[in-house]
Amino acid sequence: MFTVSGSSNSTSRFSLIRVSVMKQTTDVLIIGAGPTGLSLACQLVRYGIDFLIIDKKEGVTPYSKAIGVHARTLEIYEQIDLAKRAVEQGAVAGKGRLIVDGEVRGELDFSNIGEGMSPYPFVLMLEQSKNEQLLYAYLRSHGKEVQWETELQDFTATDSLVTARVKTPDGETHTIEAQYLAGCDGPKSLVRHTLGLGFGGSTFERMFYVADAQVDWRFSHDALHICLAKESFAVFFPLKGEKRYRIVGTFPEEFAKDDGEVLYEEIETRIKELTKLELDIHDVEWFSTYKVHTRHASGFSAGRCFLAGDSAHIHSPAGAQGMNTGIQDGYNLAWKIALVLRGISGPNLLETYNEERLENARNLLRTTDRMFQLAAGDEWWIAFIRTNVFPSVANYVLGLDMVRNFVFPLLSQIGINYRHSSLSRHAGDEDFTVKAGDRMPYFLLDGKSVYDRLREPRFHLLAFSNEQGEFEEANVEKYAGLVDFHKFQLTREVTETLGTHRSFTILLRPDNYIGFITAKGSAVAAESYLREVVGASPLLPAG
Ligand SMILES: Cc1cc2nc3c(=O)[nH]c(=O)nc-3n(C[C@H](O)[C@H](O)[C@H](O)COP(=O)(O)OP(=O)(O)OC[C@H]3O[C@@H](n4cnc5c(N)ncnc54)[C@H](O)[C@@H]3O)c2cc1C
Repeated sequence: MFTVSGSSNSTSRFSLIRVSVMKQTTDVLIIGAGPTGLSLACQLVRYGIDFLIIDKKEGVTPYSKAIGVHARTLEIYEQIDLAKRAVEQGAVAGKGRLIVDGEVRGELDFSNIGEGMSPYPFVLMLEQSKNEQLLYAYLRSHGKEVQWETELQDFTATDSLVTARVKTPDGETHTIEAQYLAGCDGPKSLVRHTLGLGFGGSTFERMFYVADAQVDWRFSHDALHICLAKESFAVFFPLKGEKRYRIVGTFPEEFAKDDGEVLYEEIETRIKELTKLELDIHDVEWFSTYKVHTRHASGFSAGRCFLAGDSAHIHSPAGAQGMNTGIQDGYNLAWKIALVLRGISGPNLLETYNEERLENARNLLRTTDRMFQLAAGDEWWIAFIRTNVFPSVANYVLGLDMVRNFVFPLLSQIGINYRHSSLSRHAGDEDFTVKAGDRMPYFLLDGKSVYDRLREPRFHLLAFSNEQGEFEEANVEKYAGLVDFHKFQLTREVTETLGTHRSFTILLRPDNYIGFITAKGSAVAAESYLREVVGASPLLPAG
């Protein structure tokens, strides 16, 4: 509940420091309304959890920043009815041209690279500013508002409460008491510093540049243009709007300026030198330079406080993973906080946030480092592969099912799994191609996406069988409101995707990851999972 427990204007007429005793209380205090904080807030709306979200900025970012939106993010958006709007507002990256020394050396078709793996089998180009606007509009349409121009100053946390001091737009200091605090406050995170969590890793020597502009050249606007050179690359991502592109690349290592000292003209000169193309870049909307760090927090939580998004992990832009990962951090955290706040699960459930998302961050950093090395590494053999081998074989290689089945799940984040998590009960999953801890795979049921049935923010117990009467006993009424039960036919799509012809059951967590999959049992197995693994107590007294 949001309450104001008292307010007095104790400002002295002669004092510059304004102190207020205004106190707000809430269940979850979210620091930062970037994509991570906004997405955590949207998820808490789904669970009906009370929260406050503050940001020191005036409003959502006007800058494009991240532009790659992946399938897993769109699947999450779908649950809050934002996926369709996102796709309408963005552009699907359909094909790529590989250019070396000003000549097209290869073409890639990735319009349907993830066909059959997700309802969104592509990469969507949609600027971060537009993603933030979508999430923010969702919050407002549910009666929630971000407290803009409100800055976290400090906080303390005990076993039972977090107390934060924030500075409001009128310069006053207010106190907010919360059950939990989520630091979605970006790479320089005050929350992370205050918790004393490490942020180990390294910084790349080379400086990146990014510019959004219109480009006149001989190429059509329907493709990603990847210009490869011995020592680096420059990529032109098509954006919605005539001739609009996001251009990203790096300066050479010997370029000795700091962020903020670089003039736009230096970026344009660098682009022209590297691409060796005849092009006219104009109507530059935005440009920026930055150093790439690759770091993650030593822990994603401490007591009642959590880190999510860039406050917990930063890495190279290779693969466009940052914003998408922050959105998924929020998605993972929200249902766990909700169950604990509702008194359904004990606080141990919250430890699995750190367990699952820290492991994911470690894997992510390894992957983005490797991708970055391939794109910009200056060892002679990497440079040789990049400019001489890769362009001519890329499309063939990408057409191979084996490669598609590896590349798309990795990039789109649908392949992220929590198989090592203590929430994954493996007994019984030996006979299946998917395992406990995997995302519920995508397939069609009666011509419709299986995800259409899985939108409610609850556990889902799915029984697949063609036998009359089988699994009819599956009633989880003791957990009514927490688990939805569904019975489906064992169709060809199901058997092909899950790799079995026998009847089976799956218990899905509220984020649609598999808690268990087994040929046996249903209600009993679900009850024991909820009790022993999730620590959930029945909602109704046992009858
Ligand atoms: C040029 C560029 C290109 C990128 N391209 C991609 C891409 O294609 N795909 C991708 O996935 N990612 C990309 N990224 C990364 C992406 O932008 C970040 O990962 C993303 O912004 C992280 O979101 P966040 O909400 O965690 O942090 P942020 O966006 O940094 O938001 C943190 C928020 O916290 C607020 N805040 C900070 N301190 C306080 C405080 N004390 N009190 C109150 N508020 C506070 C800030 O004002 C800010 O609004 C790119 C980044 C850049 C710079």
